[in-house]
Amino acid sequence: MVILFYIHRPRPRKRFFGMKIHEYQARELFRNEGIPLPSGSLCGTPEEAKRSAEEIGKPVVVKAQILVAGRGKAGGVKMAQNPSEAYEIAKNLLGAVIKGIRVDSVLVVEAVKSQKELYLGFTVDRARRKIALIASSEGGIDLEELARTKPEKIFRREINPIIGLHHFEARDAAFSIGLSEKNANEFTSICLKIYNIFKSIDADLVESNPLAISSTTGSLVALDARITLDDNAMFRHPEYKQMDEELAPLEREAQQQGLAFVQLDGDIGIIGNGAGLVMATLDVVAYFGGKPANFLDMGGGSRADDVHKAVKICLEQQNLKAVFVNILGGITKCDEVAIGLVRALSESKVKVPFTVRMVGTNEEQGRKILAEYKIEYLDSMETAAQSVVKLAHEARS
Ligand code: GDP
Ligand code: MN
Repeated sequence: MVILFYIHRPRPRKRFFGMKIHEYQARELFRNEGIPLPSGSLCGTPEEAKRSAEEIGKPVVVKAQILVAGRGKAGGVKMAQNPSEAYEIAKNLLGAVIKGIRVDSVLVVEAVKSQKELYLGFTVDRARRKIALIASSEGGIDLEELARTKPEKIFRREINPIIGLHHFEARDAAFSIGLSEKNANEFTSICLKIYNIFKSIDADLVESNPLAISSTTGSLVALDARITLDDNAMFRHPEYKQMDEELAPLEREAQQQGLAFVQLDGDIGIIGNGAGLVMATLDVVAYFGGKPANFLDMGGGSRADDVHKAVKICLEQQNLKAVFVNILGGITKCDEVAIGLVRALSESKVKVPFTVRMVGTNEEQGRKILAEYKIEYLDSMETAAQSVVKLAHEARS
């Protein structure tokens, strides 16, 4: 009995991309450390957004709280001149789908006029086993984009995690990005504070982009706060659990069902058995020009029921254009996969094309079932990836 119980217990969730937390949660950590931030509050309804804007009494920025970068460009960050505009914007944003993710709450913050937008962040450089301090005088755009367009504008310095960040290292960064004495002092102080957060919560990434120079005060203020935690450190951070509970409902639902699921920002659903295989599937889809919507590992030995659950979770994502199921049969039997898949599809109202690649145990039986239901079946991973990318492309246009 004990053994059976153990086998049926949901697998603990494995995450491979770190645990992102919301901007409002990251701001909380910034605030506790004394980093200057525009005032604001989290709102779940347009009425709350209006009230919040009234309290601030100045133009505000309404920001969708979703766990993806680049919200600004995707229409998730909007300026409101007055409370009724804040109401309208919040009304449009709440419930809307941005980069494939539904907006459940918005942050309403005082709008700050900035004379300059900087970048400041710390991240783990695993290959070199160091922490990287990254700074730039050209903030406000993605670091990846900056790296592509103006790599010379990126200041990077390795910090020895055992020794910690020295004051002079932070100052050096400030002057390297051309700050005045006054701003350099502020920058140094913020840098040390962000580093403290980074160390104390075992983060993978802590960044402020933009860290702005306000044109009214001439001082630095963090207009954005982004943190990714290292979930390997989960065991020593009881506070992670609290933050986790506030995260994406779909991820939580998947976790409760024992599935390793991570939401990404593309539109091609990915399901596989085994973390390595799912990772490889993401890569091959990206290689052929597709954008994965998620990472979903059903684990080894999945039965029809597990497959059924996984497909249902996957189909709950908004904005899906196609789904790629990639199975290496071993202890997982291909006919079980086919049965679970067909069952989930027949129950679902969502109609998106599926491409299945399955090889291994009971492949023939599985293939027959899929053929009956006219589900595309291919036996090469590359061909299947190309096909799903094409299907998604056709669905988009
Ligand atoms: P992200 O796109 O997800 O990184 O969201 P951000 O919080 O960085 O907001 C996107 C962009 O909106 C920023 O890069 C800023 O240029 C701009 N922005 C955000 N808040 C303010 C603000 O208070 N004042 C001004 N002027 N711009 C802001
Ligand atoms: Mn930003």
